[in-house]
This record gives sequence, structure tokens and C-alpha cells, in this order.
Amino acid sequence: MKDVPKLFGSLVFNETIMKDRLPTATYKAFKEAVQENRPLDLAMANVIANAMKDWALEHGATHFSHWFQPMTGITAEKHESFIAPTAEGRAIMDFSGKELIQGEPDASSFPSGGLRATFEARGYTAWDPTSYAFIKDDCLCIPTAFCSYTGEVLDKKTPLLRSMTAVSKAACRILKLLGITTAKVTSTVGPEQEYFLVDKKMWEKRKDLVYTGRTLFGAKSPRGQELDDHYFGMIKPRVMAFMKELDEELWKLGVLAKTEHNEVAPAQHELAPIFTSTNVAADHNQLTMEFMKRVALRHGLVCLLHEKPFAGVNGSGKHNNWSLSTAEGLNLLDPGKEPYKNIRFLLFLAAILKAVDEYQDLLRISVASAGNDHRLGANEAPPAIVSVFLGTELTAILEAIAADKPYDSMPVTYMKVSDNTIPALVKDNTDRNRTSPFAFTGNKFEFRMPGSMFSISGPNIVLNTIVAEELDNFADRLEQAEDIENAVYKLVRETYLAHKRIVFNGNGYTDAWVQEAAKRGLLNLKSTPEALPHLTDAKNIALFEKHNIFTAAEVESRVEILLENYCTVLKIEAATMLEMLHKDILPAINAYVSDLAAAALDKKAAGISAGFETKLAEKLSNYSSEIYAASEKLTTALSAATAIHTSKEAAAFYHDSVLAAMVELRTAADKAEALLGEKYLPYPTYGELLFGVND
Ligand code: ADP
Ligand code: MG
Repeated sequence: MKDVPKLFGSLVFNETIMKDRLPTATYKAFKEAVQENRPLDLAMANVIANAMKDWALEHGATHFSHWFQPMTGITAEKHESFIAPTAEGRAIMDFSGKELIQGEPDASSFPSGGLRATFEARGYTAWDPTSYAFIKDDCLCIPTAFCSYTGEVLDKKTPLLRSMTAVSKAACRILKLLGITTAKVTSTVGPEQEYFLVDKKMWEKRKDLVYTGRTLFGAKSPRGQELDDHYFGMIKPRVMAFMKELDEELWKLGVLAKTEHNEVAPAQHELAPIFTSTNVAADHNQLTMEFMKRVALRHGLVCLLHEKPFAGVNGSGKHNNWSLSTAEGLNLLDPGKEPYKNIRFLLFLAAILKAVDEYQDLLRISVASAGNDHRLGANEAPPAIVSVFLGTELTAILEAIAADKPYDSMPVTYMKVSDNTIPALVKDNTDRNRTSPFAFTGNKFEFRMPGSMFSISGPNIVLNTIVAEELDNFADRLEQAEDIENAVYKLVRETYLAHKRIVFNGNGYTDAWVQEAAKRGLLNLKSTPEALPHLTDAKNIALFEKHNIFTAAEVESRVEILLENYCTVLKIEAATMLEMLHKDILPAINAYVSDLAAAALDKKAAGISAGFETKLAEKLSNYSSEIYAASEKLTTALSAATAIHTSKEAAAFYHDSVLAAMVELRTAADKAEALLGEKYLPYPTYGELLFGVND
């Protein structure tokens, strides 16, 4: 066993290293600037850059890079060497403060959704000093925000940082009213990451996995997840070796990888880190996904991060555990034992309920993608309907407040929120609801809708902003109040009564809930093309503008980017299906049918009575006609799609026509695949992919 404490963070220019290597005055000034959200001055940046460079060189780095998160959902980096020429024709290793705080990558090939004319290709990146620099592949990576030269936001980090500022300000206002002063409130996240591992040799043979990350064909294997024996089951040696190495790589980068276990579907696993501040959690989750893929390859495996790599078994999500915490480390969603804390808790709880109810659309949109559409509502993931699970105890407390009645057996006089009537909530594992999209889990909310491939920035930008909005509105009102306790009680009561429709403690996977939700007037935005356009609804633009997260133009550009991405993903998937069909599937069926026909003829010639050959050949031949007809339909739909010019209409068409034709094609092809003899199979089957890693 390696010395983990020594290993942990060994490739990170973290607090300890900074304290150690920076002059005390610089370190102090740096901390203050970060705390107060002020830009760093050049003199300070020069000192830090030099210390960073020396440290990086000692760790074998030769390059540096502004590591940023464009709208592609993955990270981008452009490596520059530290090399600088000297007058004597030699080279030294150099890194200036200017290079540390700002970079100028060519932004023209990153998605901008029409924000930036191509002639204005410049963009700039600015260091986010709240996230530590680290070394990856001998390169000093500096976490940065990415903007266009004219200042429009082109990435996911900038709005996330802004949303953190917004929620911090609003929460501090509320806390002040309750007599708590704190320098800032941080939104914290622990993202649980689900993924699949498949054998690389098998993966290589599947064009669908290679090109699209999910299987586009595949008959069900005789066994799937029915036995429920994979969840928390014994981890196979090769997977174990992968997890061990992944943990070590992540620890070196300061990622708090904590829990590794098997998930529900065969070949599915999960990694959960210990929570940290949201922007660091977002950076770390990007690194986690990157290293999952890399480390898998070293073990002859491929890591699939797609939300639904296999039909018929569970897909993968990313459970976003979210809370708010003061600079002193007080978790604001901890129900606590004392009345004082309960007031605070109920107030934050009410704000969150209101936020989720009023901005259901935004939360839904924040998890919308072509991949996640296959997962949401597919029987193992929350439906596309947003609701909140509170559990019996919390619900009973709010119901009592709503009815202005004592909670449980407490006498009426006790039922003032300020009194010691509300018992500490027990973090009870039986009171868990895994079917809820937004569940209270003891001292945090778990948003379960984000897809496994997502950057967590999007969902957290929304969460932070909508909660900031409600806290601000609450503060506006409470600042006028004379009796704060009474005012809080009234506010909690009113809010719960107005928004209790969002609370649902039952089974979210049932049809009965879909009907009940419709009765309650909750939104059910089933697909990405249906959900995304609501991002530009007036109330949403007003929200983002009010909290300085996005301008209207930036919101519009994001819708464009996301719709375009949806269309592109479907286009690639459809084209891959057609290619597999013509190159692999139809020839395979044909080969088998020919052999069957030849065998039937041989038998006849030999005077043996007809066996299964003719019947099977007939059946397969019929399927191939069905397949071919479906493929023509898909081809027609695909070319019709390219003629549509607005992204909103194109996305709807891809969903209604292209995707529908893909489903038809797959259904026919899977029926044929199930009948093919082993040697005719064009690619590894579901059974082989899902149960193929046995060493
Ligand atoms: P589960 O039963 O869902 O696995 P855990 O207690 O293991 O619950 O937590 C799951 C995730 O929630 C972990 O990543 C954990 O660090 C994170 N978490 C715990 N407390 C908080 C918090 N206050 N804020 C954000 N995330 C948290
Ligand atoms: Mg969990």
C-alpha cells in the first residue's frame, strides 16, 4: 500500500505548497484577494507564477496550459512550453504573472451559438484562483474561465462562479437577519459518478460504441440485471485493479475519491468523492471522467460515460449532492437540534421548495441532452417531471406549520418555529426514496437527474441561481419585519402552502405519478427539443440577468448550442446505424440465409426431409426486408432533416422523425440478431459486452 497521505495532492499547487513557497506577504495578499473576489495585481501574479513554475519544474513539468471548460462539456487545454530564449542563444524556463492570469486561445472552433462572428476569433482565459493549479502529463494546468474578447461568456466555469457569488450574497443577507455573520456562503457538491466498463477488444468491434458511446443495436441477452446481484456485489479483479489505480491518480490530483462500488446493471460501477465547493467539485469531476477513460485503457477496458449505453438495463447518472455552507463550515441544510437552527433550516428549506417549483423548467433543461433523454423516465431513473422528496418527518412538520397546528403530540403553545418543538431529524436510511429527482437526504439535497456525461456546472448554475433568487425575495420581505421569528414562521407557512404541489414522497417511476403530476400542474417536458426552448422564456432571462449570470444574448446562444448539439448527436447516431446495417448486419443475415438455403438444398438432394433451415431462412429473409424498409425511412428522414434551417424545428424533427425511424430500424434488426448463428454475428452481443470482463 502506498503512503496515501503523501500521495494525496502531490501534483497540486495547493494551500500547503503556497504557504511554503510564497513570501508570507504575498500569500496573505493572495488569500485576501480570493476571499474578497478581487482580481490579482500583476506584481503578485509574477511572484506566484514564478513559485508555481519552480514547483512545476521540480515535478517534471515542461509546459503550462490554461485549462478551461468550453460549451462542449469537456475540458480544453493548449500546451505552451515554459521555454524562453536568452540573448546568448540558449533557453531558460520562464513563466510570467501575465501568462498565469490571462491567456488568449483562438476561440473560433469552440461552440459560441452565434455569439461571436468568426472574424472576431479571439477569446481569453482568466485564472480561477479558487481552484488549485495541478500537473497533468508534465503540464502545469491552470483552471481558468473562458470568455470572448468582447466579454461574452463562452464557458461553464464563469457562470458557475457567478452563481456561487449570487447564492452566497443572498444567503448572507438571510443569515444576517437571523443574527449570523459570515464572510461567505459556499455551495457544496459531492457528485456520485456512474459508469460502465467493457472489454476494449469487444468495444473495438462495435462501431456504435466507438462513434456514439452507446449501442444502437443489440438483442437483449438472456440475463440482464434481473437477479439484482451486481449492486454492491464482489468487484472483479480487473475492475478492482482499475479502481485502485484510478483512486491513486485522482488522489495525486487532490480529488477526494472516496467510495467505489458496483452499480445495479452488470458492468456498471460508481465512484463518489467527498463533497467540496461546487467549482472545485466541477473541476474535479471533469478530471475524474478523464482519468476513468485513461486508466480503463491501461487495463484493456473502455469506460462508457454515456447515459444509456445499453437498452433494457439501467443507465448512468450523476447524483448531484448539493448544500450550502458558511465560511465557518456550518451546513445550512443540517436540520440540527436547536430551535435557532431550525428557524434557519426551515427558511432555507422553504426557499428551495419555492425555487424548485417555480423553476422546474430550468432544472429540467439543465439536464437535457440526447443521451439523457434515453435515461430519464426509463424505469430506473427519475422521470422528466421535477418534484421534491422530503420524507415523512419533514413533510409532517411542514404540514403542521401549514395547518397552524402542533407537530405530532406537542401542545399548541410549542408550535412556534422558534421554540424547541422540532425534533432533530434522524438521518434514516430507510426513509430513502431513490425514485425522486430531487431528494432531501438528511443534510443535503440530491439532484438525481443529471446524466453521467454531463458537466455538473450546468445543473449547479441553475440550482445556485434559483435558490439565490428566492433567498433574495425572502430577505426583501424579512428585512421589513419587526418580529423576525413570527415573520419567518408566516413566510415558511405561506411558501409551503403555495408550493407544496412540488413535494412528492411516493414512487416516481409509476404511471400513476405521471397522471397525478399532471393534475397538480407540474411540468412534464419529455424530450430535449421540448425542454430546451424554454430556457429563453422571459422569466428565465429575467432571472439570469438579475443575478448577473448570463445576458439575454448569452442565454439565446446556449439554447442554440444545445439544440445544435442534439441534432448533431442524432445525425451521427443515424449515420452510424446505416453504416452498421450495410457493412455488418445485412451481409451477416445474408450469409446465414445463403448457408441455410444451401443446407436445405443439400438435404433435399440427399433425400433427407426438410428441417428448420427453410423456415429460419424465410424468417430471417422477412426480417431483412423489414430492416431494409426501415433503413430507407431513416435515410429519407435524415436527408429531410438537413433541409430544416432553424435549430428548434430541426431538433423537433430529429426527435419526431429521425429518432422514431431509428427505433423502428433497431427493433427489426434486433429480432434478426437474436436468430443469427454464432459465427455469423457481426459484433459482440449484449451478453458478451455486459458479462465479458471475468478476469
Ligand atoms: P449516499 O447514501 O447517497 O451514498 P453519502 O452520505 O455517501 O450518501 O453521500 C453521497 C455524496 O454526498 C458524497 O459525495 C458526499 O460527500 C456528499 N455530501 C455529503 N454531505 C454533503 C454536503 N453537505 N454538501 C454536498 N455534498 C455532500
Ligand atoms: Mg446518493
